[in-house]
Amino acid sequence: MTVICIKESKERILVTCALPYVNNVPHIGNIAGSHLPADIFARFSRLAGYETVFIGGSDEHGTPIEVSAKKLGVSPKELTDLYYDVHKKIYEWLDISYDNFSRTSLKEHHKTTQEFFKKVYNRGFITEGILRLPYCEQDRRVLPDRYVEGTCPKCGYDGARGDQCENCSTLLNPDELKSPGCVICGTAPVFREVKHLFLNLDKLESELEEWIESNRGIWRSQVVNVAIGWINEGLKPRCITRDIEWGVKVPLEGFEDKVFYVWFDAPIGYISSTKEWAKKIGKPDEWKKFWQEKDSKIFHFIGKDNIPFHTIFWPGMLMANGEYTLPYRVAGLQYLNYEGDKISKSRKWGIFCENLPDAGLGSDIWRYYLTLLIPEINDTQWKWKEFQERVNNELVASLGNFVYRTLSFIKDNFDGVVPEGKLLDEDREVMENCRKSAAEFEALMWDIHLRDAFRKVFAISDIGNRYFQANEPWKLVNEANKRQANLLSRSPKLLGGQEREERAMTVLFVCANLCYDIAVLLSPFMPKSAREICNQLGVPLGSLGDAGTSKIKPGQRLNDVAPLFPKLKDEDIKRLKKITSKVTGYEDMFKKEEKGDKKDKEKARVSYDEFRRFEFRTAVILEASTLKNADRLLKLKIDVGGREKQVIAGIARHYDAGELIGKTVVVIDNLEPAVIRGEKSEGMLLAAVTDDKISLLTVDRDVESGSRVM
Ligand SMILES: [Zn+2]
Ligand SMILES: [Zn+2]
Repeated sequence: MTVICIKESKERILVTCALPYVNNVPHIGNIAGSHLPADIFARFSRLAGYETVFIGGSDEHGTPIEVSAKKLGVSPKELTDLYYDVHKKIYEWLDISYDNFSRTSLKEHHKTTQEFFKKVYNRGFITEGILRLPYCEQDRRVLPDRYVEGTCPKCGYDGARGDQCENCSTLLNPDELKSPGCVICGTAPVFREVKHLFLNLDKLESELEEWIESNRGIWRSQVVNVAIGWINEGLKPRCITRDIEWGVKVPLEGFEDKVFYVWFDAPIGYISSTKEWAKKIGKPDEWKKFWQEKDSKIFHFIGKDNIPFHTIFWPGMLMANGEYTLPYRVAGLQYLNYEGDKISKSRKWGIFCENLPDAGLGSDIWRYYLTLLIPEINDTQWKWKEFQERVNNELVASLGNFVYRTLSFIKDNFDGVVPEGKLLDEDREVMENCRKSAAEFEALMWDIHLRDAFRKVFAISDIGNRYFQANEPWKLVNEANKRQANLLSRSPKLLGGQEREERAMTVLFVCANLCYDIAVLLSPFMPKSAREICNQLGVPLGSLGDAGTSKIKPGQRLNDVAPLFPKLKDEDIKRLKKITSKVTGYEDMFKKEEKGDKKDKEKARVSYDEFRRFEFRTAVILEASTLKNADRLLKLKIDVGGREKQVIAGIARHYDAGELIGKTVVVIDNLEPAVIRGEKSEGMLLAAVTDDKISLLTVDRDVESGSRVM
């Protein structure tokens, strides 16, 4: 086991979680496989007293989003706005304690990515290359692989994409598809040679290999093995540009119409999110401490599919740039499955996180079981039966029970005040064991064995339950139970009334301290419950160093005491299962709302040429009078640059004739003349109109009458 000793106060820790791609909603596998472990580690790092920043954000660029948006008839921005909000709410509800959750579509990120690239380019790590790419003559554009769909050469599936067949998972190139078509117009593409930019990973191969080898024994062997596997195959230059619009523009002559490949810009999001955080806290340079100074350590939490990116491509980019700190630790996690199968939204198979707030169960209960399922070494599996059993048998019956029996005992027998303890060897041993568990906990956490560390918390509640049970404090204070007391007093080994009372006091003093220690160690995993325990104890939650140090003193007055966790009945599980497996049709909502909306917008849209046909001009009102038998209308004489005109306007209920004289207004000068109530009308005044108000448009500076308005 590797224990990193970063005890100097200067040490800083940056924790990142793989940026979720926001064309979908997170399910429990995404939570257990990156956000939750990253959050637990960040909370632990703060608890251990290190200056910690936990950074995340949404990965918003790339063809999948551009293509989905096209198919839905919305802009990529509209699509990512929707999903960004959904994601952010879910992480907040689950108490994922991001210091900043940013977006790669923000300006700050575009700027950071372009500067990052320029440095890499200037240092000679970028070359031009030619790719043979599908081109749509109809749309006059290069088609990235996902823009081509056709029949899979392997399985014959009709909707295979140019990068992969969704049906048989075969990786494909667009030219391998049978009867390929452009996703925009359906035309068969032709192939053209197109210039692109490449990152020279080949030049960085030995440097990368050396760095990866230096992390052997620190990183998990799975992670090192994946990375070395890539090195052994030989690193090739890797394309960093794409022919789409949605993304970070390439700041290089001849490539202005391209954007960066999403694999290139997304990890730079870690840096831009840290920059954004620094700005938000009012110290715009603070991000440099985490990314450019030696005494910081960067921990990346990612799923296993992301290991090559974080051990080869991303560090390769950082080496090519030369300005930033390399990752200290890459924690690659496996997958969480659901009831014996892969989680699948299309098959409605899994737990979809947008439903969790509606399920009526606190976030800590979900966090509890998901922590048990963090796929640290192997794939793991959500099982409802096991969820129910673990919650009832461990959370409720062990940890919850120990805390509740301890605190309610103090309430009932010691007026809610923690009693004084006279520690015997056996009490000291219990507290010593607890201290040991806390030390083991810390070592396991630094080594990112989060599940094993979590077990230590329950080890303490087990110790506590056994200790409480063995000492039977309820017998020691039960003066009413005379018969038993008499029996006890016959044995010379047993204690007298006064001593029995003291013994009970000691036991409860020890147990109250164990409750506190449990709260401290529990806090990275189940933050709300940890706070609740401390709240019942009447003390603030301290730091990691407080665990096992008898922080709860005699005389401490407790607050109200209540059980911490609900027991889950069979019908609860049924209900939870039903609610959480619902699949929210976000995109369908989009289709209905946005499509209706869009049609109206399209109908109402005018071309610039159409707009130019309107002649809006300023005019001065010369005369105004009411019209007979028309209480809504005013007859106006106006001057438009020396021409006099008559206009009939429906503003009589809102303006007195007298107040209009001399006003400069805006009029449509070339409107076809009409006859209204027998009077000629040669134009129309512009006004802001609401249900109960009309306000004439006017100009905010003096201009000549007849000036063109546009
Ligand atoms: Zn196929
Ligand atoms: Zn096309």
